[in-house]
Amino acid sequence: MQGTIVKGIGGFYYIKVDEGIVECKARGKFRHNELTPMVGDKVEITLKEGKGVIDKIYPRSNELIRPAVANVTQALVVFALKNPEINENLLNKFLINCEYNNLKVTVCFNKLDLISEEEKNEIVSMIKSAGYEIIFLKAKEGYGIDEVKEKLKNNVTVLCGPSGVGKSTILNTIAGRELMETGEVSEKLRRGKHTTRHSELIDMGDGFIVDTPGFSSFDLDFLLKDELQNCFPEFADYIGDCKFTGCLHYKEPGCAIKEAVIENKINSKRYEFYIKTLEEIMSRRNKQW
Ligand code: GDP
Ligand code: ZN
Repeated sequence: MQGTIVKGIGGFYYIKVDEGIVECKARGKFRHNELTPMVGDKVEITLKEGKGVIDKIYPRSNELIRPAVANVTQALVVFALKNPEINENLLNKFLINCEYNNLKVTVCFNKLDLISEEEKNEIVSMIKSAGYEIIFLKAKEGYGIDEVKEKLKNNVTVLCGPSGVGKSTILNTIAGRELMETGEVSEKLRRGKHTTRHSELIDMGDGFIVDTPGFSSFDLDFLLKDELQNCFPEFADYIGDCKFTGCLHYKEPGCAIKEAVIENKINSKRYEFYIKTLEEIMSRRNKQW
């Protein structure tokens, strides 16, 4: 039987199969191969006297570290249009992190109720020009939630974004139950109470959503200098036209990316962020670039 691991606790795994949820143990052979089953894994199981055993773990398309979930296909990057104010650099970092992990991205701008039409600012157009899909939400009122639900179909989705933007509100509304406490007070309580928090997949019928947010704060210190450009999807059409192979689109002459920025085909703020990040990578003391 084939299924997906939706939860793991103390050596037991809960596998969603067509008929429902089966509790399973993993075969010892995985431990010898240093392969530990992860939430999100697609597995082959057998049933013996009502007990399940995981026989095989299918190759993973990716493995997120935070949250520790395999085979995530998509990220919803959530930011609030106001309260808290959008931090443009942080938004770009989230996008880079998603691209690096091969996740499809939709940017969700929440708290639409707090701004006027004119205030939908530059940042929104920067995101649009980079080719990302956008959903506007008033999560508290349920506005935009249907559009989010539509996006979940046939995907394993993780919500990410800084704290206070409405991720828990969105998740609770989508799943129709109180999964996460909202607001800052509960955040403190939660941290105090639990030392480790394992993620689960919430079954949406035709897709899964991870019940904890992904990459809340991070550095991009794992990125190598020639990988960075691949995390900017809007560069893809031009990269092949640079004069030099291996062009980093920095100070090289005949650079098609720089040309595209001048012609307004690539957003200049995104390019500036690319250069800023590239310079950070190249100034690493350990020269790991
Ligand atoms: P998280 O930290 O990203 O999980 O954010 P929460 O879901 O805890 O929300 C943070 C705060 O923003 C809470 O006080 C929510 O009630 C509030 N909030 C969530 N969605 C909206 C919205 O659409 N409009 C407004 N004005 N506030 C919202
Ligand atoms: Zn170039």
